[in-house]
Amino acid sequence: MNFEYSDKVKGLLERLQRFMQDHVYPAEQAFHQQLQEDPWGEPVILAELKAKARAAELWNLFMPDPRFGAGLTNLEYAPLAEEMGKVVWSSEVFNCSAPDTGNMEVLAQYGSLQQEQWLKPLLAGEIRSAFAMTEPKVASSDATNIETSIVRDGDDYVINGHKFYISGLMNKRCKILIVMGKTDPDSPNRHQQQSQILVPVDTPGVNIIRPMTVFGYEDAPEGHAEVIFDNVRVPAGNLILGEGRGFEIAQGRLGPGRIHHCMRLVGQAQRALEMMSGRAEQRIVFGRPMSKQGSVREDIAKSACEIEQARLLTLKAADQMDRYGNKAAKDLIAMIKIVAPQMACTVIDRAIQIHGAAGLSQDYNLAQHYAYARTIRLADGPDQVHMMQLGRNLAARYGAKQQ
Ligand SMILES: Cc1cc2nc3c(=O)[nH]c(=O)nc-3n(C[C@H](O)[C@H](O)[C@H](O)COP(=O)(O)OP(=O)(O)OC[C@H]3O[C@@H](n4cnc5c(N)ncnc54)[C@H](O)[C@@H]3O)c2cc1C
Repeated sequence: MNFEYSDKVKGLLERLQRFMQDHVYPAEQAFHQQLQEDPWGEPVILAELKAKARAAELWNLFMPDPRFGAGLTNLEYAPLAEEMGKVVWSSEVFNCSAPDTGNMEVLAQYGSLQQEQWLKPLLAGEIRSAFAMTEPKVASSDATNIETSIVRDGDDYVINGHKFYISGLMNKRCKILIVMGKTDPDSPNRHQQQSQILVPVDTPGVNIIRPMTVFGYEDAPEGHAEVIFDNVRVPAGNLILGEGRGFEIAQGRLGPGRIHHCMRLVGQAQRALEMMSGRAEQRIVFGRPMSKQGSVREDIAKSACEIEQARLLTLKAADQMDRYGNKAAKDLIAMIKIVAPQMACTVIDRAIQIHGAAGLSQDYNLAQHYAYARTIRLADGPDQVHMMQLGRNLAARYGAKQQ
């Protein structure tokens, strides 16, 4: 594997880094201030930054299909997503934020009927979207448990169910949901009971109950909604790909979605390393800069090692996805999904400690970044589920060789 980025990627990365320096980092405080006025709206500063990013052609960089976006490979996108990860909300500036990215990929791949109505405005950043799978009443890390019903009635489907932690749905600009539920709960194949269906947020019966919090954060402006679907009726054409194919679609979206989270987490951890180094050089403890203390140097050194390990594993997984497909790369995707969130939690935690009380405060981004990293140990599959699947695959592969 060649570790050198191509000239194309170097050029894009340089432009992106300059954009972050010139426009995004200086906007961090204003972004949070503006949110206080209208938590679920679009902060003016975000709208301005999006217009600038689009004009600078730093837009839809995640989209592998050149008909719809930048047409980069996963490997090419990795350093760009890492850069965006350094500010928790900045992926949206470049129209590269979850869950829109996964939803746009699903619509680009399977939603030919719905592209004009939903994909086009999503690609233009005019609306936002959400993906609704998790349910409070069942263990949703095993998605075969999902209970929401999707029942055919004439030319429509009728949806009933209860979901929570639906990211993006609190936002006023969220106009479309992809809902996962069961069209055939009695199918003997548990992986063919599920389907995915498009539900406009303004459909009668979509009742948003409240924003769920993460360590007390509401994560505005996207939020994580609890929502009840009460006899929600949508046209049959809103079903994506066909009845019973929900799992197939979920598997398709989760590979790229998971690795994108990991790319961003490497960026967050890198920023935490830079911040802890800066703080350690400047802050005097017991008569000398903190960076002269052995334990602080160890924290910095260990963090750099762990970030680089995770970065290289991310790149290897991305490279395998590009060359052999998401299915063939599933073990490496599981590995990085296990490694990167834990690594980021550890590194950001060290940075918080080195900053003292300020590390937990609103003056730095560390507490919010920690909350995001901790979330990713659950979202898109808890650590244990990835370990269960990876352990099963490896035991079968290596075990067979031993016989
Ligand atoms: C901030 C945030 C945003 C989210 N956004 C979305 C979203 O946009 N859309 C959406 O649908 N969902 C979303 N989720 C939900 C997330 O995907 C689920 O929380 C996750 O899939 C786990 O499901 P669960 O919460 O039902 O946990 P459960 O399934 O109840 O699992 C609980 C715990 O059981 C343990 N466990 C599970 N399986 C095993 C095993 N095989 N071996 C050992 N232990 C095991 C794990 O420790 C796991 O954490 C979000 C969650 C958070 C926190």
